[in-house]
Amino acid sequence: MNIPLSGPDIDSQDIEAVVSVLETSHLSLGPKLIEFEQKMAEYTGVKHAVAVNSGTSALHLMIRALGLQPGDEVITTPFSFVASSNCILFEGGKPVFVDIDPHTYNLDIDLIEQAITPKTKGILAVDVFGQPPDWDRLDALVKKHDLFLIEDSAEAIGATYKGRKAGSLGDVGLFAFYPNKQMTTGEGGIIVTDDDKIATLCKSMRNQGRDEGAGWLQHARLGFNFRLSDINCALGITQLARLDEMLAKRAQVAAWYNDRFEDVADIKTICVSPDVKMSWFVYVARLADHYFREDRDEILGQLRAKGIQCSNYFTPIHLQPFYQTFGYAAGDFPVTEQVSERTVALPFFNHLEEAQVDIVVNQLKQLLK
Ligand SMILES: *Cc1c(COP(=O)(O)O)cnc(C)c1O
Repeated sequence: MNIPLSGPDIDSQDIEAVVSVLETSHLSLGPKLIEFEQKMAEYTGVKHAVAVNSGTSALHLMIRALGLQPGDEVITTPFSFVASSNCILFEGGKPVFVDIDPHTYNLDIDLIEQAITPKTKGILAVDVFGQPPDWDRLDALVKKHDLFLIEDSAEAIGATYKGRKAGSLGDVGLFAFYPNKQMTTGEGGIIVTDDDKIATLCKSMRNQGRDEGAGWLQHARLGFNFRLSDINCALGITQLARLDEMLAKRAQVAAWYNDRFEDVADIKTICVSPDVKMSWFVYVARLADHYFREDRDEILGQLRAKGIQCSNYFTPIHLQPFYQTFGYAAGDFPVTEQVSERTVALPFFNHLEEAQVDIVVNQLKQLLK
């Protein structure tokens, strides 16, 4: 038996779309890029979408477009994928972590104000596991303190908060398309925003600092090669056409897990706010408080030995070896650490069958004390 942790959902239309780009002479900066960006902007309900070669590149460009300077502080969460904090370091900024809410695993908004200093330039919040935090409260905070607001919606494409789409909730947002995300372009990411200036700067910086319409060897500013090829964009277009269908399948798989864990006292499932429609990125079960890291790691090992792939989403960012060189240590963010030591990300993808969910749940239950 082998049940993978995740897996992309590629159909014959995806394959045809990719192959048909190869039959043209437009492999990059061609019509599929324009079409993908237009469709993503429309889906998200924003004016602009700027496709790039990864979610990390998207974060990096938006941090630069917002003008972050060395020494500037950005408030963010330690319970995320490391890129959401690394992008601040890329530009010499300082990530200032605040702890999370133990029910949704999102930033604890009550703790933000006390972390604001004269150097604070913005808040970078993450829609963790596909659930947006309370963006109205975040919005009020940034207005009061004159800060920028970044939404790392890499895990939340298609989620809504009070009916508004994830990605559109801050000044600028992004999606990521690595194969374990809800939709994929192989590798890829996209910046989404209503802000003309951010969009124009990001378009220029992804393409070696060229201004639109200017010559190929004319570089108006420092730029990168963060372009996304038309091959990737073609896959993005066909994936996006099926996205809502794929999200519905994922919601069904999550519902099967939730249903089976309802009467398991030792497993806590994620709390979804009534304001939110979740876009399920991963399915994370959390062990009760009387389990410790060693127990959790033992459970992960036993599940893997049985062919059930699983993971410990996430190790807190402040405890990553590289971040410890900045002086962060265990105990700094107790809620994050408490949650992180007990999470078990279970197999989760569109085509996971109900019978497989039963196998996973039964195996996990046998390992509980
Ligand atoms: C996946 C992810 C990213 C980065 O996306 P890549 O395409 O892998 O660079 C950034 N932030 C979060 C929260 C993610 O989950």
